Amino acid sequence: PAPQEPQPVQADVRVLGAREHNLKGVDLTLPRDATVVFTGVSGSGKSSLAFGTLYAESQRRYLESVAPYARRLIDQAGVPDVDSITGMPPAVALQQQRGGRSTRSSVGSITTLSSLVRMLYSRAGDYPDDQPMLYAEDFSANTVEGACPQCHGIGRVYEVPEQKMVPDPSLTIRERAIASWPTAWHGHQLRDVLVALGYDVDVPWKNLPKKHRDWILYTDETPSVHVHSRLTLSEARAAIEAGVEPSYQGTFIGARNYVLHTFANTKSASMKRRVAQFLDVAPCPSCHGKRLKPEALSVTFDGLDIADFSGLPVRELALLLDGAVADASRQAAANPGPTGTAGGALHADVRRQAVQQRVEAGGSAHAAAPDVRRTPNRSAEKLATTARLGKELVDRLRPIIDLGLGYLSLDRTTPTLSGGELQRLRLATQLTSDLFGVVYVLDEPSAGLHPQDVTALFGILDGLKRRGNSLFVVEHSVDVMRHADWLVDIGPGAGERGGRIIYSGPTDGLADVEESVTRGYLFGGSGLPPHSPRRSTSWIELNGVTRNNLGGVSVSIPMGALTAVTGVSGSGKSSLVSQALPALLAEHLGNAVPVDEAPEDDELLLADSPDRLEGAIEGDLAGVRRVVSIDQKPIGRTPRSNVATYTGLFDHVRNRFAQTPEARARGYKPGRFSFNVTSGRCPTCEGEGSVMVELLFLPSVYTECPDCHGTRYKPSTLEITWHDRNIAQILAMSVEEAHDFFTGEEDIMRSLSVLIDVGLGYLRLGQPATELSGGEAQRVKLASELQRAQRGDTLYVLDEPTTGLHCADADRLVTHLQTLVEAGNTVVMVALDMRVVAAADYVIDLGPGAGDDGGTVVASGTPAQVAEGGVGASAKYLTTALE
Ligand code: ADP
Ligand code: ADP
Ligand code: ZN
Ligand code: ZN
Repeated sequence: PAPQEPQPVQADVRVLGAREHNLKGVDLTLPRDATVVFTGVSGSGKSSLAFGTLYAESQRRYLESVAPYARRLIDQAGVPDVDSITGMPPAVALQQQRGGRSTRSSVGSITTLSSLVRMLYSRAGDYPDDQPMLYAEDFSANTVEGACPQCHGIGRVYEVPEQKMVPDPSLTIRERAIASWPTAWHGHQLRDVLVALGYDVDVPWKNLPKKHRDWILYTDETPSVHVHSRLTLSEARAAIEAGVEPSYQGTFIGARNYVLHTFANTKSASMKRRVAQFLDVAPCPSCHGKRLKPEALSVTFDGLDIADFSGLPVRELALLLDGAVADASRQAAANPGPTGTAGGALHADVRRQAVQQRVEAGGSAHAAAPDVRRTPNRSAEKLATTARLGKELVDRLRPIIDLGLGYLSLDRTTPTLSGGELQRLRLATQLTSDLFGVVYVLDEPSAGLHPQDVTALFGILDGLKRRGNSLFVVEHSVDVMRHADWLVDIGPGAGERGGRIIYSGPTDGLADVEESVTRGYLFGGSGLPPHSPRRSTSWIELNGVTRNNLGGVSVSIPMGALTAVTGVSGSGKSSLVSQALPALLAEHLGNAVPVDEAPEDDELLLADSPDRLEGAIEGDLAGVRRVVSIDQKPIGRTPRSNVATYTGLFDHVRNRFAQTPEARARGYKPGRFSFNVTSGRCPTCEGEGSVMVELLFLPSVYTECPDCHGTRYKPSTLEITWHDRNIAQILAMSVEEAHDFFTGEEDIMRSLSVLIDVGLGYLRLGQPATELSGGEAQRVKLASELQRAQRGDTLYVLDEPTTGLHCADADRLVTHLQTLVEAGNTVVMVALDMRVVAAADYVIDLGPGAGDDGGTVVASGTPAQVAEGGVGASAKYLTTALE
């Protein structure tokens, strides 16, 4: 028997027999009130332990205690596979965002700062003389009370002009005069319906009476009539007279409404793009894009309306509020209000009004007396409110600024934020939430942070710990590991080759653990070999690039080389690399060169973003045939897209199944083995493998489909096997397992090898795209690109490709990028890990600061030149990395 373990002073968290996913019956003891960092290569089991076991169990207990009736459903949704967990406090998880995000949410709404700002405007704003006071909701464009009545809070108005819908009025309707009509069958149907309604579709559009043209384009009516297919007006009349049976019942929709309705509702990106070309978009003439009703916009604070206020970088907002709070306190002291004490009892008159109002409002909370909104501008009460709300706002803005996000404004929408920015915002919000005694479970909080900003992150983490919380952090940054009180190294490899605890204890102790892959990165010995920068003979010149905070930047990028763009968070790296460069290249090279996927959100689609792109590009572009720009946006938005379908390897797998003798005998074609096609998939869940269950008062949960038990297929489809595995078993394999299984199948192996090279060996082939983190999605896209034949004529643009990767995995990815460059391609990447930057041929450092303090090139050259130059935020860290 093992010797008795000494009893630690502090209560700790004990895990026995954790077997979730690849965990191999893990036993573990973790300290509380400490920062515990989980490390290990991608797929080793860090998330399975931290999120899948510890957090999930804490969550399950919580749900059980609040909703006993949900027990059965929670069990179905999955109980972590673990024998016991003791000493686990309630947990709060901050994971990298997965899947799509709502354009309606913004920095202000996810931090809940917007509601404070609305309260500030409602209670302490300056109102025009004749303007009644407003409630906080009157300042929200997302409420009926606050929205601009003309644009309904959208800030834009859409027009569908006749010239766009009918570009060539000499055509007849049958000749597709109405270009904005749907193509194919639906377009024919609309034409036939018009005939049935008595319109002539065989005269040139311009010869139709204006009344007819207006009705066809602009009517809101949707008449439904019996239709005879493909006839002219006179033929149709004859057919009706002769009593010919109509072909079908058809419904008409006005051409304008068709465009507006499709643009607003379609789920297909290509449909949306098609109809967008018929739209004219303009800022709303009433609110000028500010989305609020005129009364709300007439209220100011420090001379700004609430829209302008929310558009300021939070760093400037904090300065403005600091000033206003100081002013208000000074004035209140110098000039006590009518009642003598600022913020004290109100004038009797005002109080009576307030009571009256509360009665009118049915006793709702909005009108709690005394009501400061009933006092004049600059009243003592308003000054007191300014001081109190202003201070609270500043206190809550501070952690956001400290986390290096002072360049964001409250109105920035969440889809334009990176996963790392979003997580740090949530972290900053937590810091001011006054929770204590909980465990925060975090997923790579250092993602997107320049080494210079990591110190601020430590401040936030330490603040949470000081307040009596514990931190469980999944991390790859060596700096964060060094900052930990306790390190848990999981591995040694990924998937089946991982899932064991290699080390658990204070960080220094890892130095003696030979088996650890992490050790060499923390204590020396591992890493990429020193790199001698390639010398380029040809360059791309970008001139006068203006985009977001870039104000006319000029920069040269070497061809046939690996370039790293660095700089603190918010300095303009993404604006230059992910936005300006691919767009300018596309413009220069013409449509012959495909660039990325088309943007999906309305803003970009309609090109009415206020942040227009300007700039010129020249240089040696003759050799560039393709531009591949890969960002961290989620791939596909449905659970129907997965790693196997996205990379195309599933097509090959389905072909193998269709070629088996049994499949041929039954007449099963490759489509039979797709869960997106009716013939072979489970009809209950329509191939999703899960069904959604609505829970009263709780978020709805997905549970395994009761008929196919999550396999997604009909039993008959599953009877077909290839090398003793059915199609569902293949989808359940990890990439690594599949790599062993498909040995010798060249076309399939090519995709699998590249997926392993980019550090995704642990993903299951059937893992839905919606479950991938931003970094994983980026690497799936990268792998899909890399498996194509290399011709040495491609320019790759990558945004932080090593996010979410253990140092060892990052090294393998960089090695792969080097082979691309060896083959003659050009790679330009945003990179913050100075080990990776040191492996580049050329470095462009942006800065010096973030937002308006950034946006210029502060240093460029080989890594050694930038390090030696000593200018810019990266030089110091690059020097260390080059040693
Ligand atoms: P890490 O966080 O260290 O990158 P994970 O905990 O995400 O690793 O994955 C560990 C192993 O568990 C991998 O082999 C992975 O394929 C597997 N795994 C992860 N999520 C699931 C899941 N939902 N279902 C089945 N296996 C999973
Ligand atoms: P980095 O990649 O270096 O973190 P970004 O290029 O993302 O920096 O941002 C640079 C500046 O441009 C910041 O001030 C940021 O707030 C602003 N910015 C970036 N994207 C947008 C956007 N879609 N809309 C408005 N401002 C943006
Ligand atoms: Zn408007
Ligand atoms: Zn099913």
